[in-house]
Order: sequence, then structure tokens, then C-alpha cells
Amino acid sequence: RVFEARVKPFRRDGTTIIILTLHDITAIKRSEQMRADFVANASHELRTPLATLLGFIETLRGPARDDAEARDRFLGIMQDQSGRMSRLVNDLLSLSRIELDEHTAPTGRADLGRIARGAVAALELKAAARRIRLRLDVPDRLPPVTGDEDQLAQVLQNLIDNAVKYTRDDTEVRIALALVEPGGGGPASAVVPLPAGGRRAAPMVSASVSDCGEGIARMHLPRLTERFYRVDPARSRQLGGTGLGLAIVKHIVNRHRGRLTIESDVGRGSTFTVFLPVAAEERVADTRRAGGS
Ligand code: ADP
Repeated sequence: RVFEARVKPFRRDGTTIIILTLHDITAIKRSEQMRADFVANASHELRTPLATLLGFIETLRGPARDDAEARDRFLGIMQDQSGRMSRLVNDLLSLSRIELDEHTAPTGRADLGRIARGAVAALELKAAARRIRLRLDVPDRLPPVTGDEDQLAQVLQNLIDNAVKYTRDDTEVRIALALVEPGGGGPASAVVPLPAGGRRAAPMVSASVSDCGEGIARMHLPRLTERFYRVDPARSRQLGGTGLGLAIVKHIVNRHRGRLTIESDVGRGSTFTVFLPVAAEERVADTRRAGGS
């Protein structure tokens, strides 16, 4: 723990009295350290592709000036590196925007089925390039959830994008939505708990994304949603990852008073599931229907 000592001397009846107070500043120090680490990590992530870009620009203006074949190859690399920087900046902006409104609960209604269809459509081409099938199961009459459609689309896109990135070629990624009634007992491996006060028994809609990849060793699971935490940093970068996708997912799910669970079987694959509360009006309507019958 970290303590800060404050000394306050004063005089009374000719004697000097010194009051020493100790303040526990562990939490402040920890959050300062996390902020400093974050800035250092973000700068490092940006500096690497930037250095590559500068190197190639110099080469193109110098030794490779008249070499058409090298120029083409170098421009391809420069395009990849610019794409990497652009993804990183977009993710950093998303994260800071989400953090800003994390304490205001979303009020809209969102249809997870429609959002999941959109996310699957957006990633179909990327998956097809490695002969990965995206299978989507949406039950009939799924109730809407309380939420911000754009943010929930980002959650599903990030999870499906990861599944596609980390699954083996020629396999299937399954996206399954379901209605989860209270008392059904969720999976035990919750890594992002419900925010305090949010543990009311309420129906939830779950969206799970399962892949047939290498899986994730148990020791990594609790840290997976930390910013820039990667099991294999070189592989993540090579696959175009920023290391921020799951941190964004965690913040959005927290804001929605939902829950994220990660289950993984090393060598066989992983399942990421988000649980989101059914929209309040739907719950009232359900109770009325149940009461009237
Ligand atoms: P990245 O951009 O590196 O994929 P994320 O925050 O989305 O960053 O994920 C953090 C890390 O979690 C990844 O680098 C990877 O090691 C691991 N990971 C995420 N999804 C999966 C998955 N479906 N299968 C295996 N590992 C995964």
C-alpha cells in the first residue's frame, strides 16, 4: 500500500505539537500508474508503424527511387502500416468516448437479432477469404434489450472479428442468440461481473460467439479485457489486432449493466458470451401477459 504523510505543526501553551496524518493513496497511485502505462503503450503502438513508414519514405526518395518493383512492394507495406495506425486511433477514440459516458445508462431499445445479422454481413467476406463459415442462430420472437445500437454492434463485431481472426481456416464460427430467464444459473466463468446493484433477477438476452481456434489458457482469462493485453502480441499485430477490442467490449457491456463471460478449451476453441437485460417495457408487458392468463 502507498501512504502519504502530512505533517502539521502548531504551538499551544508554549509547546510545539506536531500532528502527523497518514493518507492511504494506493487507489490514486494505481490509477495514475494505469494511466501512465496506457499512454506509454499507446505511444509505443503508434511509434512502431510510424517508424516503418518513415523508413520506407526515405528509401523511396533515395535508393529505391527508380526501382518500380520495389516501389510497389514498399507502397503495399506502407498501406498496411497506415491501416494499422488508423485502426489503433479509431479504437483509442472509441474507448475514450465510451469511458466518457460509461456512467450514463443507455435508454434506447436495441434488436440484437438485427444487429447480429449486420455484424455477420460486415465480416462475411473476411471470413470467406479463409473459408470460415459464419453461422447465425436467432430464435423467433427475441425481445429487444435496453441499449445503444451502435455500441452493441461494436460489441458483436469485435467478438466475431476476434473469432474469425483466431479460429482455424475451414472451420465454423457460430453466433447464437437466446433468451435467458432469471434463475437459469449463468456460466461460472464470469470475468466481467455485473456492476454493483445490477444483480436483480431479470430476463437477459445472451449472444455467444464460438470459434474453433487454439483456445486461451486459463491464466490469461482474467486479464483478457485489459487494454493492450494480448496472449501473443506478435500474432495479434500480424492479424491486424490493436489489443483494444475486448477492452472496448468490456466497457460497453458494463455501461449496459450486462455481463461478459469467456469460456475456453485449449486446443478446441473459445466462446465469448454477452448477457444484456431485456428492455424494461418488455418485462412489464410480459408480467401483464402472465398475470392476465
Ligand atoms: P486483439 O486486437 O489483439 O485481438 P483484443 O482486445 O480483441 O485484441 O483481444 C485481446 C487478446 O485476447 C488477443 O490478442 C488474443 O490473444 C486473445 N483473444 C481474443 N479473442 C480470442 C479468440 N476468439 N480466440 C483466442 N484468443 C483470443
